[in-house]
Amino acid sequence: MIQNYFRGDQVTIFAKWLRWAKNFVILTHISPDGDAIGSSLAMAGYLKNKGKNVKVVVPNDFPDYYLVAGGAENIIVFSETKQYIDLISKTDVIVCLDFNETGRVGSSLQYYLINSPSNKIMIDHHLNPQPFCDITLSVPSASSTCELVYNFICAMGDFQLIDLSIAQALFMGLMTDTGCFAYNCSNPDIYIIVNELLKLGVDRDRIYRAVNYCYSKDRMQLMGRALQNLKMYRNGNVSLMVLSDKELQKFNYHAGDSEGFVNLPLQISGVKMSVFIREDCELNQIKFSARSVGSVPCNQFMSQFFHGGGHLNAAGGELRCSLEQAISIFENAIKEWNFEF
Ligand code: 5GP
Ligand code: MN
Repeated sequence: MIQNYFRGDQVTIFAKWLRWAKNFVILTHISPDGDAIGSSLAMAGYLKNKGKNVKVVVPNDFPDYYLVAGGAENIIVFSETKQYIDLISKTDVIVCLDFNETGRVGSSLQYYLINSPSNKIMIDHHLNPQPFCDITLSVPSASSTCELVYNFICAMGDFQLIDLSIAQALFMGLMTDTGCFAYNCSNPDIYIIVNELLKLGVDRDRIYRAVNYCYSKDRMQLMGRALQNLKMYRNGNVSLMVLSDKELQKFNYHAGDSEGFVNLPLQISGVKMSVFIREDCELNQIKFSARSVGSVPCNQFMSQFFHGGGHLNAAGGELRCSLEQAISIFENAIKEWNFEF
């Protein structure tokens, strides 16, 4: 038996909603990753199995390798049309997955999320949830939102409703948010969940290959460029990789192409924190990603200097300035940050 994160009144409130609510919208964060897409598809599958009308809405496009979980082709990419605004504003319930502050859905969707009169539930594993939902299920120690969705379905007493497509989606998120079971996955319960998902027929190899062995030549060469741009700081404890819009365009960048790059410098002996800066002309911002090892709090570094946050060892942030300014802000910040490596 796995530990039940969700006992008592909160699950009971959701069970009450299930009795009267017909229409559900599932929302997840901007630039959705495997856990965001996986948990959304799994929750959608569960609610459909409960007889509900369900739509999954994402703020912007996502890499097509997440289609391997099945069902992702039905996901709606939000735009400010009456149809989509009505969807958010008139649904009975909004399920917020893999984010815990409204800003993470992007500014246009954020407005409709905040102002929607619908009932809202959050299931998430990031630190410090904002109080914008009627039910907040926040477990920062969990590996992934997919682990929590599995746990939630079990807490609802509905394990038997987990079918193969739900299992595939859950496996994808568990796998991607743990770097293919490399970090954030010391809780033995995770392997009991994986055991159950495999028993339901998940083809582990197929999902692993689809998500990891999906590079185009351009993407592989973009990775090479990022690595060539590597710089070291703080006696080799910190690394920085930068990709400009010009470089991204040279290698025909698509959403998700730089996913995972930030992990690479952690393979260098002595590197305890890796930072990756990408010029994002689509969202008109400079995007920061950070990864760290052990007790190095990269989320604190991101929140102190780059309007960001995240987990202890995986965080991000963003700035609205030129790439040159962003690099200079980083270089000052890394000098100023009073963390002792
Ligand atoms: P990634 O580097 O994969 O984009 O994000 C790593 C982690 O940091 C994720 O858990 C993500 O939710 C969080 N994160 C990324 N960007 C931001 C941001 O701009 N603000 C906050 N608060 N969290 C972020
Ligand atoms: Mn996640």
